[in-house]
Amino acid sequence: MIKLHDKCFKPFISAKEIDAAVSKMAKDLANDLGDEIPVFVGVLNGSFMVVSDFVKKYPKPCEVTFIKLASYEGVKSSEDIQRLIGLTQDLTGRTVVILEDIIDTGKTLQEIHRIFKNEGVKQLLIATLFYKPEAYKKDFKLHYVGIEIPNKFIVGYGLDYDGLGRDMPEVYQIKTTQHMTNLVLFGPPGAGKGTQANFLKEKYNLVHISTGDVFRFNIKNKTALGTLAKSFIDKGELVPDQVTIDMLNAEVEKNTDANGFIFDGFPRTNAQALALDKLMESKDSQINAMIALEVEDEVLVQRLLERGKSSGRADDADESIIRNRIKEYYTKTAILKDYFSAQRKYYGVDGFGSVEAITERLCNAIDKL
Ligand code: AMP
Repeated sequence: MIKLHDKCFKPFISAKEIDAAVSKMAKDLANDLGDEIPVFVGVLNGSFMVVSDFVKKYPKPCEVTFIKLASYEGVKSSEDIQRLIGLTQDLTGRTVVILEDIIDTGKTLQEIHRIFKNEGVKQLLIATLFYKPEAYKKDFKLHYVGIEIPNKFIVGYGLDYDGLGRDMPEVYQIKTTQHMTNLVLFGPPGAGKGTQANFLKEKYNLVHISTGDVFRFNIKNKTALGTLAKSFIDKGELVPDQVTIDMLNAEVEKNTDANGFIFDGFPRTNAQALALDKLMESKDSQINAMIALEVEDEVLVQRLLERGKSSGRADDADESIIRNRIKEYYTKTAILKDYFSAQRKYYGVDGFGSVEAITERLCNAIDKL
């Protein structure tokens, strides 16, 4: 990730991908133009890099010139296009190819068509390295397009944000979401994740998502998801990954304005951990830490049996189901310690003692992040 002025940008298109797109455009144009010597017209400032690379790759004789137009203020395409340097040579009867770094709304292109209206050129072709179809509002034909991109602000390879970023050989995309803090609260059943999450969500202003709670809500409301989940939960087994992942994604989507999340009971398998990383990436975010409550097995069994007296949870009432949940944890979930340790995100916390003492230990770990 990089920062230019006040904004953050993430890697978007590599120098290699740009090179391949420029090569293809040069080859296609050369094939189509035959022996004709074209005049390539770069639109300054942004196009200086693409023009330079393009003409080096163009396999036949050509001429190069520039016009200078300005249309951007900050990250927004402005209404007014200023013509700073116009055409300086006679192009009557010539094949002119406009070389643009990017076409978004098409306002600059409109100005270009105005400039060439009375020049008597043989043909006017438009070639652009980047194109934002969602933003384009004009009808002018684009004859050659390198890479189509979504309607998000980009910098690099000639494109700037208030003067910075033009020099970078690759392209970066603006990060639009605000900064989030995302924690995975980890530990075996009965470790106290739910109890602690209730304190932490208040203190850090985070949204708490417990997959176990969401399943129980669905069971209570007799939804199709609840009926499916119940058949696994009642045996102390894990609900299948895809069902759980889809549900988690939907829960996150319900909270687009969140400062961040506490994930409680998720991920529980490798596939879920990968899915969570992917989901966070799609939000321009990441998991900051896995905070694990470490508690001995026999303490867990006693805690859960005790909780079963009042929780009304069938999976807390029977010792063999409790032991099966703990077994599921060690066979399928505990490996995630390695997954997060490899990313230097694992923080173990002693989960034995009073609720308050454990909350304090967790806050100490989180405050150091
Ligand atoms: P919990 O409330 O976290 O103890 O979860 C209760 C039960 O819900 C578990 O024993 C599983 O059957 C199911 N469950 C909760 N979270 C997940 C998950 N991430 N993956 C699969 N099953 C889950």
